[in-house]
Amino acid sequence: MRYISTRGQAPELSFAEAMMTGLARDGGLYVPAHVPQMSAQEISALAGLPYEEVTFRVMWPFLGDTFTEVQFRGLIAAAYKGFGHDARAPLVQLGPNHFLLELFHGPTLAFKDFAMQLLGQMMQADLAKSGQRITIVGATSGDTGSAAMEAFRGLSNVDLFILYPHGRVSEVQRRQMTTPSEANVHAIAMDGDFDDCQARVKDMFNDMDFRDGVRLAGVNSINWARVLAQVVYYFSSAVALGAPGRRVSFTVPTGNFGDIFAGYIARAMGLPIDQLVVATNHNDILDRALRTGEHRTNGVKPSISPSMDIQVSSNFERVLFDAYGRDGMAVAQLMGEMKSGGFTISQSALQMLREQFASGRCSEDETSATIRAAFAYTGEVLCPHSAVGVKVAEAHLGVVPMITLATAHPAKFPDAVEAAMGVRPALPDRMADLFDRDERLTRLPNDLAVLQAHIRERIAN
Ligand SMILES: *Cc1c(COP(=O)(O)O)cnc(C)c1O
Repeated sequence: MRYISTRGQAPELSFAEAMMTGLARDGGLYVPAHVPQMSAQEISALAGLPYEEVTFRVMWPFLGDTFTEVQFRGLIAAAYKGFGHDARAPLVQLGPNHFLLELFHGPTLAFKDFAMQLLGQMMQADLAKSGQRITIVGATSGDTGSAAMEAFRGLSNVDLFILYPHGRVSEVQRRQMTTPSEANVHAIAMDGDFDDCQARVKDMFNDMDFRDGVRLAGVNSINWARVLAQVVYYFSSAVALGAPGRRVSFTVPTGNFGDIFAGYIARAMGLPIDQLVVATNHNDILDRALRTGEHRTNGVKPSISPSMDIQVSSNFERVLFDAYGRDGMAVAQLMGEMKSGGFTISQSALQMLREQFASGRCSEDETSATIRAAFAYTGEVLCPHSAVGVKVAEAHLGVVPMITLATAHPAKFPDAVEAAMGVRPALPDRMADLFDRDERLTRLPNDLAVLQAHIRERIAN
């Protein structure tokens, strides 16, 4: 299996190379040269299997010769053993034909654990083969950083540094980043906001001496291996509701378009998905683009579903690549136009996008009202992101069963949930001691040289 760049100018890579590279050298994102198919028979055979076995069968055709079968099964088992629910991704019913896929039973209580846990295992196994070490540096507004810390702590061939904006993440998110005690993971509280953190990480990737000197790698959501790991729960949940004999629909709370793009891949592999609905909060560029064909930014407004407060969804480039007939030059042109605020999607591309995706947006008031109503009528406590999904899904319900992805545990966003329904959600028992654990972090200024010196010094030890 080969991977090609969405901008057409970077070398083709193997799975392992694409996993280690992240962003392609031409600025594009890696996608598989072709999507492996699963037959109806192979899909129905997934019914009733443990989540780990479904993971193996769905991902294996994409991996080439990266791992042996035995090795890959071992990595999957290690990735998901720390989850707090034996089903890993359980379904609960919200209404007559509406289901919630709970993706928040991982160690940091958000769906990012599914991909990050497995990415950590796969990177470590691949590095161990060659005895190499890498340094991963990432910026976070909260969820990515905590998921990465949990996934990479204690891995012997990786040093991980997470930059988060000092004073601007929730206490649960901060403690999830600062309480792991392993020496290879490092939390940096940087003075500045999330954009500053992200800009310094970019600077490090653009400093070739530093990049090569520390063997820099990234784990943000454009990493193909993360998208692939998220394809699995579309299959596991759809077969639980009768696929492939019965079609199902999905609604996905969307920020960087990674999670919903995984659904698009599942459909391309042969899973009979009816609607794939993009749900946004008031940062609604994707909903506007699908409705009007105009993909234009108009500034990020903070919301109570902060992990979706995004102007430009990086993974949208992957679906544009298909919508433009896999023409890398056309994609490069659009991304160039993005720098001056946006672009108009061509008629044929828009038609393809509308065949693949429906969309909707949810206001702040609607988010709170949905948290309240879901609790009153079903007893389910939703996090604000999941509530955005549920609200948008309600406008798309029909005879086909709808599965809405619940992307985080409500206790990760206790203030917004308490404001909406008057009850403060509790952390699951297995994490109840989070507030008693010792914190370990370094506070640093928004200064590239200081950050680089800190990283160099830490990896030397
Ligand atoms: C990251 C995140 C999202 C957005 O997911 P994308 O893959 O970026 O679209 C939604 N909800 C929560 C809780 C998240 O952490």
